[in-house]
Formats: sequence, structure tokens, C-alpha cells
Amino acid sequence: MATIDMPQVRDCAVRACAYNQTGCHAFAITVGSSERAHCETFVDGPVKGGVATLTAQVGACKRADCRHNDDLVCHASSITVGPDLDAADCLTYEPVKL
Ligand code: SF4
Repeated sequence: MATIDMPQVRDCAVRACAYNQTGCHAFAITVGSSERAHCETFVDGPVKGGVATLTAQVGACKRADCRHNDDLVCHASSITVGPDLDAADCLTYEPVKL
């Protein structure tokens, strides 16, 4: 069975997120809502978490209109996350007409 590599979260500028310790250390993130390419794994709180030795990957993305999205899977080589329309959005998002 073929395997694919999930794209890494190369950089995340959202320092307030519990998973951000000079980069995102969630095991995987989920991106998307019906309105925008929001990082749905973002959590604002005093507790820091994640796996310090791992760089997060994009586990799922709901933005079917993004040019990097195929069958709700992200195929970008990597993504960056930061403030845009919301506090934590996928900055690699590139909408295309469906
Ligand atoms: S680049 Fe596009 S497909 Fe990949 S996580 Fe961002 S919005 Fe989703």
C-alpha cells in the first residue's frame, strides 16, 4: 500500500497557541471551516503542549477550494500558519474556482 507524506507546518507565527514552542508541535493539525482556512487546532491557553521532538503536519484540510487540496487532503510541500482573517490561518491557502 502506498503511503504519502503529510505536509509539515514549516512555520507558525501564532505564539499564543498552546502547541507553539518556537514552531508548532501538535502531532497533526486540521485546517478549514466553511468560511476560511482557519487552523482548527489552535488553542489559546496557559498550558503548553504537543510533542517537543516533532514538527506538526497537516492531518486534514476542509478547504476543498484550495489549489493544494485534493479529496480534502493537503498536497502542498509544506505550509505556514499565522494571523490573517483570524488569529491562526493557513497562509499557504490559495483559492481556485471549483
Ligand atoms: S495549503 Fe490549502 S490544502 Fe493545504 S492546509 Fe492550507 S488551505 Fe488546506
